[in-house]
Amino acid sequence: MSPVPPRADLPDVAPTVQQDVARLAASPEVRSAYNWLRTQEPQLAQWQMEMARIPAPPFGESARGAWLAERFREVGLDDVRIDDVGNVFGVHPGVGKRYVALSAHIDTVFPATTPLNIRQQGSRLFGPGVSDNGAGIAAMLALISVLAKSRISHALPFVFIGNVGEEGEGDLRGMRHVFATPKWRDAIAYSVVVDGAGADTVVAEALGSRRFEVIMRGPGGHSWSDFGAPNPIIALSRAIEILSQTPVPTTPKTTFNVGVIRGGTSVNSIPESASMRVDLRSTSMAEIDRLERSLHAALDRAVAAENRPAAQHGLRKPQVVQSEVVEIGNRPAGELAPDARLLKVIRAVDAYLGNTAQVQRASTDANIPLSLGREAIAIGGGGSGGGAHTLQEWFDCHGREFGLRRILLTMLTLSGLSEPVKSIR
Ligand SMILES: [Zn+2]
Repeated sequence: MSPVPPRADLPDVAPTVQQDVARLAASPEVRSAYNWLRTQEPQLAQWQMEMARIPAPPFGESARGAWLAERFREVGLDDVRIDDVGNVFGVHPGVGKRYVALSAHIDTVFPATTPLNIRQQGSRLFGPGVSDNGAGIAAMLALISVLAKSRISHALPFVFIGNVGEEGEGDLRGMRHVFATPKWRDAIAYSVVVDGAGADTVVAEALGSRRFEVIMRGPGGHSWSDFGAPNPIIALSRAIEILSQTPVPTTPKTTFNVGVIRGGTSVNSIPESASMRVDLRSTSMAEIDRLERSLHAALDRAVAAENRPAAQHGLRKPQVVQSEVVEIGNRPAGELAPDARLLKVIRAVDAYLGNTAQVQRASTDANIPLSLGREAIAIGGGGSGGGAHTLQEWFDCHGREFGLRRILLTMLTLSGLSEPVKSIR
């Protein structure tokens, strides 16, 4: 996930939800669950390292998915299945037809060839993927285990999902597939996404992005003898200059970037092609649409200028550049309504635990349910971590237990404990 600065307006804690949380937390079952979680750290670190040693590049998560399905069965989930795209599902039963979903992405940003030197020093784990999303997967396994051991009664059933395709070119394909599947699309009442370490944030706004590869093509030629032929690098440069003038609002925050540019073969050749990669972001889909129109308008103007007849005097036949735009990423925007029950529950849990958490805007698996108007948040798996997406990534288990209690209380409050839950929609 990629966080951006927090938003200021935090909803007040709802008194009735606050009472539910306090009653739950005081129950003997939940207290014994806390005790059990306290003893599990060696097992969690073990799982986390075992998992991180299995490569899971984008579109190559199947070995890790098979490992997770084994763990799901081992710790006692029902109906463990792997779907068409590689998402791993398991169910913890309850009463009611709708589910509270807890998901953690199993993919990493690291190519299959990355050396996975995963090691432990004291309370710290080191190596690619140990925190993002080793912390999330370990938290999910901790929750499943504690539910199996402590026999806490709760209302709505839980579905646990180890999903593929969160990072980079994965483009949220795992979560997209979950919410495109009729069985789950309507059955998931709440989605809690666990991504990375920590317990100090709540991602309740989905930062949307759309990414493009733009290719400009022309006839090419010799810099001296074909002078006057349209030049894709010049046309692309002109398009970038025009695009860079696009005004963007600060609210809703909207940004654009040209992050990669390529083209040409030698100093004395008119290139046959040039390309760039463009990233458009906003919390508003309308602003992303507007930026996309600006990109197309910039390309049209740049192509027209490069192809104008005056530039081609002396050429035997008219030659042109043409642009092609290929979408390489599309993450929908959305946000949790301020009166959403999920937001009230996490705020009440944080108030109960004395936790100061900021509501943030980021791009996570929660983008998919949020863009569909469903209740979803992304939170951390506890502990602390750093160096995400680098070979120096680390995770420290200090404070993990606190994060796990936070997730457990959130899930149980959403599900409802031992009495009918009135507020299920
Ligand atoms: Zn992640």
